[in-house]
Amino acid sequence: MTKTYAVIGDPIDHSLSPALHNAAYLFLGMDCTYIAYRIPKGELESDIESLKKIGVAGFNVTIPHKVDMMQLLNYTDEECRLVGATNTVVNDVGYLNGYNTDVDGFLDPLRGRKIDCKGLDVLLLGAGGTARAIVAAFSKEKIHKITVANRTEERAQSLIRFAHQLGLESDYSDLKNAGDIAGSYKFIVNATSVGLKGIGCPISTKRIGKDSIVYDIVYMPVETPLIEQSKNQGATIIYGWEMLLAQAMKSFEIWHKIPAPYEAMKLTLLGRF
Ligand code: NAP
Repeated sequence: MTKTYAVIGDPIDHSLSPALHNAAYLFLGMDCTYIAYRIPKGELESDIESLKKIGVAGFNVTIPHKVDMMQLLNYTDEECRLVGATNTVVNDVGYLNGYNTDVDGFLDPLRGRKIDCKGLDVLLLGAGGTARAIVAAFSKEKIHKITVANRTEERAQSLIRFAHQLGLESDYSDLKNAGDIAGSYKFIVNATSVGLKGIGCPISTKRIGKDSIVYDIVYMPVETPLIEQSKNQGATIIYGWEMLLAQAMKSFEIWHKIPAPYEAMKLTLLGRF
């Protein structure tokens, strides 16, 4: 019988996950299908019961359900507990196991480039849901310090408290002035949504140089203004699509317990941009 997988969230029609996973199934000749399923906030619990009833084998979880979904799980892995959110669920005959592939998905492109983060100072732009997974990821890598720059200071302070709980040194910078201090950081990560659709650069890049590593998790377009300008300054670049692909591959491997087809999924993803 064909196994069905899904991504749940709201909005969901822009999601690239169905294309990515269906490409993998086609490439490997697997009898599986992956759909996007819109679940509005407030309807999570009842809709999860429906997914269980129709026997959906597993699903990804995205905005706005990543945190609330935690309450409905029977098991959570270490990353879920670390971040307080899930993005991948296995339905084991009604018993829901939750995982979080954002943490390792974020780290994968660094490991691929053999970048050792231990002892580094990181400038993190943004303090939203994904920034939290990024702080958890850097705590695993034993960085020295993370400075959080965000438009809304209150959200940054909450993330700084989270970093402290994980044993990280952490402080705050105003996003408006973060470009002025960027030269003091080896690693700059953009986890704001600024740059989406090619509009805006979160900071001035004048102090970013050839020793800087710039990781922009915004993946649409591939070359955001931050990436384009940082590249011109000679920085090492890590693209948002790399994280997107890595976390999708990790979900695939949790569900199917076989290696995900990197090239087929990458070609599909880049073909969508
Ligand atoms: P989120 O929870 O909504 O957080 C959005 C962040 O962007 C907040 O820090 C917000 O600041 C900031 N922001 C939004 N508009 C801004 C503006 N005009 N000026 C300055 N800051 C602004 O979203 P998220 O889930 O963390 O996602 C953030 C981005 O990462 C999105 O573009 C998303 O597509 C991308 N993403 C990529 C991947 C990947 O795999 N590559 C994975 C997840 C997310 P305030 O706190 O001040 O509102």
